[in-house]
Amino acid sequence: MSEVLVVVDHVDGAVKKPTFELLTIARRLGEPSAVFFGSPDKGAEAAEKLGKHGAEKVYVVDDAEIKGYLVAPKAEALQQLVDKTSPAAVLFVSGYEGKEVAARLAIKIGAGLITDAVDVDDSGTTTQSVFAGSYTVKAKVTQGVPLITVKPNSAPVEEVGAAGTVEAFAATVSDSAKKAQIVASQPRKASGRPELTEAAIVVSGGRGTGGDFAPIEGLADALGAAVGASRAAVDSGWMPHSFQVGQTGKVVSPQLYVANGISGAIQHRAGMQTSKTIVAVNKDEEAPIFELVDFGVVGDLHKVLPAATEAIVKH
Ligand code: FAD
Repeated sequence: MSEVLVVVDHVDGAVKKPTFELLTIARRLGEPSAVFFGSPDKGAEAAEKLGKHGAEKVYVVDDAEIKGYLVAPKAEALQQLVDKTSPAAVLFVSGYEGKEVAARLAIKIGAGLITDAVDVDDSGTTTQSVFAGSYTVKAKVTQGVPLITVKPNSAPVEEVGAAGTVEAFAATVSDSAKKAQIVASQPRKASGRPELTEAAIVVSGGRGTGGDFAPIEGLADALGAAVGASRAAVDSGWMPHSFQVGQTGKVVSPQLYVANGISGAIQHRAGMQTSKTIVAVNKDEEAPIFELVDFGVVGDLHKVLPAATEAIVKH
């Protein structure tokens, strides 16, 4: 069986959940190997967790020389690793960086690229939700090593093995790949809540909140969820743009999406339609959001959400 390379998404060695989901998918396609850009120390630490989730091998690409740069050096390093390993596929987390590295790699190796898959089966056929969720597309790469970016929450996290074997991989990075340098990087103020695109549960609020997000945040905290917002709420200055879900915001695909005081405009749907279970609270029973929900509550969110939160906290 061929190797399947999984590019690890991590912050300072702490591997993020979507990478473990990729390892579940990689096991369907071949023998998973993780590719970790970072120091050898952090790579060895991460290899333990990556191995437990199915990575038989962990290639550690020491990024001492390349971490100060944007994505181009990573694409070059991956090209060299693909040449060495001839993998059955390379999987990335669908995020800004994953998609850009994948696109650059696709050009370099002349391979087909599929972005934003929400599922990949054992034949390498992907499922995507396109045109604001109005079509489900099945696609398969027909040229070169399949490169696939997969949205968070598209597969379960499974613990299956022991620590992965660490293998140092020395990449040669050309000067031409070092044209854009990171000059500063500042961590976001921690909210204690999961990251929006990775959260298993998202509780969102719209114009119907009237600017009072306390009921949204209360329910989110009771459920261990991330908070999202419609563009109307963001444009009103009630929440920062980083919370916006939709066509011009973030695309989320959680296990549970709770839309409160959100009408369900097509541009909002584009960002949440692939959520596994959708719940809406809206005082207008004709609101379009009710067309796509699994469960709907017709009522005032300022009454419904505190009652739901209280009931959840009690249990
Ligand atoms: P509204 O449409 O005003 O709906 C408010 C809802 O709240 C109503 O259904 C109402 O019945 C309900 N409500 C009111 N009070 C209560 C209450 N007390 N309790 C319960 N329910 C209540 N939108 C996005 O969200 N994300 C995007 O990325 C995005 N991108 C866009 C890109 C373009 C190019 C364009 C043109 C638009 C975009 N939009 C986007 C905007 C989108 O078209 C809608 O205007 C927006 O989603 C509406 O937000 P909303 O549902 O919060 O507000």
